[in-house]
Amino acid sequence: MRIVIAAPEAVPYVKTGGLADVAGALVKEFRKMGEDAILILPCYRAVRSSVAHLKDTGIRLQIPVGGRDVYGSLLWDGAHVFFVDCPEFFDRPELYGTPTGDYGDNAARFTFFSRAILESCRRIGFSPDIIHCHDWQTGLVPLYLKTIYGGDPFFSATATLLTIHNLGYQGVFPASDFPNINLGWELFTPEGIEFYGNVNFLKAGLITADLLNTVSETYAKEILRPEFGFGLDGVLRKRAEDLYGILNGIDEEEWNPRTDSLLPSRYSADDLAGKAVCKKALFTRFAGMDDEASIERTPIIGMVTRLSEQKGLDLVLQALPGLAPFDVKLVILGKGDERFHRALGEAATRYRNAVSVTIGFDEALAHGIYAGADFFLMPSRYEPCGLGQMIALRYGAIPVARNTGGLTDTIEDFHPLARTGTGFLFSDYTAASLLDALKRAFCVYADPGMLTAMVRRAMAQDFSWKRSARRYLDVYRLARNKKTR
Ligand code: ADP
Repeated sequence: MRIVIAAPEAVPYVKTGGLADVAGALVKEFRKMGEDAILILPCYRAVRSSVAHLKDTGIRLQIPVGGRDVYGSLLWDGAHVFFVDCPEFFDRPELYGTPTGDYGDNAARFTFFSRAILESCRRIGFSPDIIHCHDWQTGLVPLYLKTIYGGDPFFSATATLLTIHNLGYQGVFPASDFPNINLGWELFTPEGIEFYGNVNFLKAGLITADLLNTVSETYAKEILRPEFGFGLDGVLRKRAEDLYGILNGIDEEEWNPRTDSLLPSRYSADDLAGKAVCKKALFTRFAGMDDEASIERTPIIGMVTRLSEQKGLDLVLQALPGLAPFDVKLVILGKGDERFHRALGEAATRYRNAVSVTIGFDEALAHGIYAGADFFLMPSRYEPCGLGQMIALRYGAIPVARNTGGLTDTIEDFHPLARTGTGFLFSDYTAASLLDALKRAFCVYADPGMLTAMVRRAMAQDFSWKRSARRYLDVYRLARNKKTR
């Protein structure tokens, strides 16, 4: 199949979130499977430093954005990854905005990128069977295929799939940005891409892509409800039959405790001795030296997370007084909203013996926490898929998580009588429920045999990309059938 992955970011070139993992991993898996897959990305400043030998295809792009033509060119890695170069839009320090806010011309930037994707396909002579779009930044691609490119024979067999990675981010711009996209005002209606007086790029994709998916089956159902729909649940309900849930995978080479060179000691489900070494290293780093017995007695709860509203940090802060009577260590690594930086910093001071907080993005420490922690906390308000819990399971850090989205689909709640399960789930978004789940976890911790069995079950889970890639190929076929029907 001729596949275009059209994405605003992808590993190993440029990453701010899980979307980059999905886009990068899918291209890699598809090519291993013998599919003819290419990737198209914007050429951000960060790309220039991460790709050693960017080549010029010689293709020049001229794209109308509002009342003017914007010029760009198409670069590539010499193989199957293409970069839309337009220094005016993409040669910037960040991808979407600075800590003080989003770039003011994001509507123009991603209008340009979306049309550049289609123009690039045509110019390189790659007539796709499927264009797989990711999030609002590529939401206009299916819309353009149904409008400006509607009668273009080059795309007559091209179907589209739009993946929603997080409905909380929609690309909503003021109506004054609408003329940028060069389509008629008749589209600026509630049935079209108008959204409470604004223009919504994600909505453009949701109403025009042949099929839609999100990154877990539970989240695919949740977003049909107002609590999770961010105002688009009505639009999604109309397309419920076209909406699929496909779990993300994790990079099993990067995240493998058997081979992980960032760990003080490596380990496997058969031989967990190395995990105890990792725990000791983490413990001494954050809680100071202690005797072996007390390290063994004290569970470490890890968190590696963006510090945003979504991730349930308010619950963690509220639960701290209730956690104080227990002899536990909470080790948090995260970066994000200023208010959480502050509140967590204060908590680390108040609960000096129990809580340590590292603000920053630190790959090596993240590995150390997954390996050294006994439990991994994810009390998310909502979680489209979540990678943290999958990595934690693979490293034998038992997840304690909210029963929502991808967390529901990847963690089996512990059952004390059947002795089954890979984690501890709680449903109510309250500190009391979170504490209850933690207390259930501590009970298992107190029984080393039961804990070890649980760690082994957790580590045996399969979250490979191969499985996800196969599911995506199935959905691509369905999209093509729908298109040609
Ligand atoms: P989201 O994409 O919503 O941020 P996920 O759980 O899907 O959450 O993915 C988060 C990924 O980013 C995980 O691989 C996690 O280990 C990593 N990560 C998040 N915050 C940090 C951090 N501060 N330092 C290192 N890695 C982080």
